[in-house]
Amino acid sequence: RAKTLGARSIQFFSASDDEAAARRRALERDLSSALANDQLWLAFQPFLDLGNDRIRGFEALLRWQHPTLGPIPPSEFIPIAEETGLIHSIGHWVVKTACLAAARWPRDLRVSVNLSVLQLKNKTLLDGIVVALAEAGLEPRRLEVEITETVLISNFEETISFLQSLVSLSVTVALDDFGTGYSSLTYLRKLPLSRLKIDRSFVQDMLTDADCAAIVRSLVELAHELRIEVTAEGVETPEQLDYLRCVRCDEAQGYLIGKPLRIGEIPGIAAEPVGQELST
Ligand code: C2E
Ligand code: MG
Ligand code: MG
Ligand code: MG
Repeated sequence: RAKTLGARSIQFFSASDDEAAARRRALERDLSSALANDQLWLAFQPFLDLGNDRIRGFEALLRWQHPTLGPIPPSEFIPIAEETGLIHSIGHWVVKTACLAAARWPRDLRVSVNLSVLQLKNKTLLDGIVVALAEAGLEPRRLEVEITETVLISNFEETISFLQSLVSLSVTVALDDFGTGYSSLTYLRKLPLSRLKIDRSFVQDMLTDADCAAIVRSLVELAHELRIEVTAEGVETPEQLDYLRCVRCDEAQGYLIGKPLRIGEIPGIAAEPVGQELST
């Protein structure tokens, strides 16, 4: 595009490319000290049980508050963490912090953490999870890990055996963002899944697009036949929630139910002291 717009525009575009590259270098440089400098924190977003309208738990979502650039979205810094190898120490901190938080919640609530492709390749991840659970005193069945389909493409067999080790500890596994990327029914068949999370893009379109509605309805049915629960992501309207109830989706997550918040900001879940009841 820049080529057709003349010399000035080329300069303009390359200036902004320079800016993007400079930002990227700054983020790369600063991410390595972000943990030590307390710039990373976890937001928690609730899951609503559509059967009884109760909160079933929370997903931990990583946040980076950069001292000068402000909040950096995970879509921007997770890839940097992966490329620099920092994902291992950061991911370990996420698991540890999420387990410590959940250990203070009522015992029927679970916590889920997102694991990225590279984390699964690290042989120390499993030990890290075991230690995090033990140190927090969290029952393993209250921890869920969320993996995305793209994670799975490379070394599928290795991934299966890693996930099976988790399941043998009673940690549960969710397949995140289902329907985007390279969804394969093989994943549903071969992975030890407890949950499938239908991607937000389907939830967004299902009330205006009959084909999309059919996909959501059929996915819930298929998952249930395979004894897998279904969580719909990105629910923003009461009408979407109604449709999901109607097709017997198990859980919903999204801004309608609750935005990702600091743990102290969630009503009924105080950061301290231990043993608060949920009002919902
Ligand atoms: P995800 O796991 O699929 O998380 C859902 C994303 O959708 C979150 O974005 C959440 O804030 C957003 N969301 C939730 N409800 C709604 C809604 O109703 N409407 C809209 N428009 N958005 C909604 P976020 O926090 O920016 O995270 C993006 C992705 O970054 C996550 O997608 C996950 O793949 C990754 N991520 C987040 N935390 C971690 C982490 O600790 N480790 C790893 N490896 N990846 C993480
Ligand atoms: Mg997730
Ligand atoms: Mg997701
Ligand atoms: Mg996602």
